[in-house]
Amino acid sequence: MSQQKKTYNDLKKDIIDKQICVSCGTCEAVCPVNAIELKETIPNLLGNCIECGICYENCPAASFNTEEMDQKVFGRKRKPTEKLTGIYKKAYQAKTTQEDIHSKAQDGGVVTALLTQFLDDGGDAVIVADLEEDKIWAPKPTVAKTREEIIKAAGTKYTPSPALVGVKKAVKEEKREKMALVRNTCQMRGLSLATAGPLKNKKIADAVALKIGLFCMETFNYDSYMQYLKENDVDPGQVTKFEIKNGRFYAWNGEERLHRAKLAKVKPLIRSTCQRCTDFASEYSDISVGNVGSPAGYSTVIVRNEKGQKILDSAIKSGLIEATQIEDFEEQKTLVHKLAEMKKSSHQ
Ligand SMILES: Cc1cc2nc3c(=O)[nH]c(=O)nc-3n(C[C@H](O)[C@H](O)[C@H](O)COP(=O)(O)OP(=O)(O)OC[C@H]3O[C@@H](n4cnc5c(N)ncnc54)[C@H](O)[C@@H]3O)c2cc1C
Repeated sequence: MSQQKKTYNDLKKDIIDKQICVSCGTCEAVCPVNAIELKETIPNLLGNCIECGICYENCPAASFNTEEMDQKVFGRKRKPTEKLTGIYKKAYQAKTTQEDIHSKAQDGGVVTALLTQFLDDGGDAVIVADLEEDKIWAPKPTVAKTREEIIKAAGTKYTPSPALVGVKKAVKEEKREKMALVRNTCQMRGLSLATAGPLKNKKIADAVALKIGLFCMETFNYDSYMQYLKENDVDPGQVTKFEIKNGRFYAWNGEERLHRAKLAKVKPLIRSTCQRCTDFASEYSDISVGNVGSPAGYSTVIVRNEKGQKILDSAIKSGLIEATQIEDFEEQKTLVHKLAEMKKSSHQ
């Protein structure tokens, strides 16, 4: 822990007021007296702060040392070939074989298929990003316990979902002991601190059995996003899928394209905190999934450790997923490497 203990007041001054909070929800999840609560994805002090310093120490926007975390999470340093992607074992192109999953999923449906496999293998909950009932296209961290609940939450929401708030609910309120969670890159860093950092939370560390990371170039600010849609005559209530692909932003209603724009046009929607993020491939997950580097309808999957390999093998064995290894991934010439390099070099 840092020599001078930093408390919620410092979190407010250094992170929240400077608009670099990543909205991971880690501070809320680790606060031992439940004094912090996220409101509109931003932490608020609701109770009495006991000045323990745990929230600041676990905040990924406050500080994050990748070399130290590589050692803690994977027990070794990165090889030169892992500089851009983070530590890994193998990479694959994959998709689910299940039509009900594929039709609802963003890309290959791999994430949803892995989560259902996790329940089949004895997991007791998964934390996904479903949608708020009364706020259009706003994700909410949700504790799913059935295949149906997992499928319902499939698909990408381009604004942050503070998954650690879901972890808190699952662990502290619902007493779940073996769960999986899906998160994008910066949020996975908060989870890494909460499960492996100097002031880690033992209950959370013990309960998180599988970390599925999503590739991520950026997230949108919710209010600007909704305003943009309004200005471009897109009714978000009609949209069944938003998508960023091949340098374009799309809104779809089933097969019908409602909107298409060059990425430069949606740049003003990007949250300021994303400008600081250097992690594209969700480097601290057990298994990372994204769409770049694979054909339409498939996902690119990076298996990082034994846990990641085990769940993928299990889903292949039960016929939920088909996967082909990307043999030349180590040559670092894929689109994943290109975007990871772009993010690291432009976001330092
Ligand atoms: C904000 C964001 C930006 C992304 N940017 C890129 C990118 O630049 N390049 C790229 O290759 N891939 C990116 N992805 C990942 C990509 O959109 C797909 O999520 C990924 O390919 C998995 O597809 P799938 O069909 O296997 O997922 P699905 O089977 O559809 O499952 C997706 C899972 O992710 C969860 N989820 C959705 N939105 C969020 C969220 N905001 N936070 C946490 N969990 C969420 C869902 O609840 C679901 O469980 C991004 C994802 C997000 C959320």
